[in-house]
Amino acid sequence: MSDTWNARTRAVHGGTRRSQYGEVSEAIFLTQGFVYDSAEQAAQRFEKAGEDEFIYARYGNPTVRMFEERIAMLEGAEDGFATASGMAAVSGALTSMLKAGDRVVSARALFGSCLYVLEEVLTRYGVEVEFVDGTDIEAWRRAITPGTTAVFFESISNPTLEVVDIQAVSELAHAVGATVLVDNVFATPVFSDAIAQGADVVIYSTTKHVDGQGRALGGVILGTQEFIRKTVEPYMKHTGGSMSPFTAWVMLKGLETMELRVRAQAASALQLAEALQRHPALARVIYPGHPGHAQHDLVARQMGGAGGTVLSLDLAGGQAAAFKFLNALTIPVISNNLGDAKSILTHPATTTHQRLPQDQKDMLGITPGLVRMSVGIEHGDDLVADILQALEKAQ
Ligand SMILES: *Cc1c(COP(=O)(O)O)cnc(C)c1O
Repeated sequence: MSDTWNARTRAVHGGTRRSQYGEVSEAIFLTQGFVYDSAEQAAQRFEKAGEDEFIYARYGNPTVRMFEERIAMLEGAEDGFATASGMAAVSGALTSMLKAGDRVVSARALFGSCLYVLEEVLTRYGVEVEFVDGTDIEAWRRAITPGTTAVFFESISNPTLEVVDIQAVSELAHAVGATVLVDNVFATPVFSDAIAQGADVVIYSTTKHVDGQGRALGGVILGTQEFIRKTVEPYMKHTGGSMSPFTAWVMLKGLETMELRVRAQAASALQLAEALQRHPALARVIYPGHPGHAQHDLVARQMGGAGGTVLSLDLAGGQAAAFKFLNALTIPVISNNLGDAKSILTHPATTTHQRLPQDQKDMLGITPGLVRMSVGIEHGDDLVADILQALEKAQ
């Protein structure tokens, strides 16, 4: 491995461990355990396992290790721990480091399950959680008081695509000694520089862009070697949320092509955002990579101007128009995953955010006409044509 490699090279070769057969494609070590040469070796390995010495797949496995090293290298993190799902990563990162009496400050605009973990689970164990508007730096400044243990946010929120200033929030958090944990799914590993910008811990649901083909659930927690091995690993290996070797292999193969897919998806998302500006059927077109986005300067600073692979459209005709529009599409599918090779649309108010009370929906801008589009790798021209004909039918 070379420190000078660009991300695309790391994504193809990083972390590779070859067996004695010299296989080209990474091997799937679909084994729960590992044989010891002697009783003495078993005893010694339990005392202190070396770099390539494994004990039990819940603790670690060669295929899983390859994936952890490859994605850590890609993100510029010292180390990583792979988990069974994105939510195992979010809940594992938080619960492994928090205890009763700790205080967490979080952005309010969160993925539903993240909100559940913070609002329902952590508070049950005596952790104090305060929610703020993630785009309001003064709100963060007021909430991040001395004694705050952790700060949590999604760097780009779902589904209204608001961007949190990683550097500014990290400076406030570090001034009081708090750990910054960033759920970075919408930014993707391709456009992220979160660790260099101040994040201490970066979390991905690898179900999204890393797999990118809708096959497997997975997640990863990235951070310093100290945090991953001393705080996260003991918690995850004993509570059971580890990634399976087969999933790790799916994710390794996903990483090889991720940058090509994500850049093509983001280019089509921008093409769509441009084609749909001022369309009479739309009240809003939200895409962080478009100059019309309210936080375009921050996007330029934080993500090199790239807006990710998701855009949100607000149909002026409300829910009836949104449903007509979705039902008239011929290429994208109606589903709720994102980051997939296939374009996927969802109506957040009646699906992913159905259970949110109306006042919360209003506060987060989840209107009846809002649809979220995860842009796939189909040709951008075909997507534009299909969206335009479906909007026509929705009017
Ligand atoms: C999907 C998602 C998760 C959860 O990931 P799973 O792999 O479905 O468990 C967490 N945070 C964000 C922002 C997501 O989009």
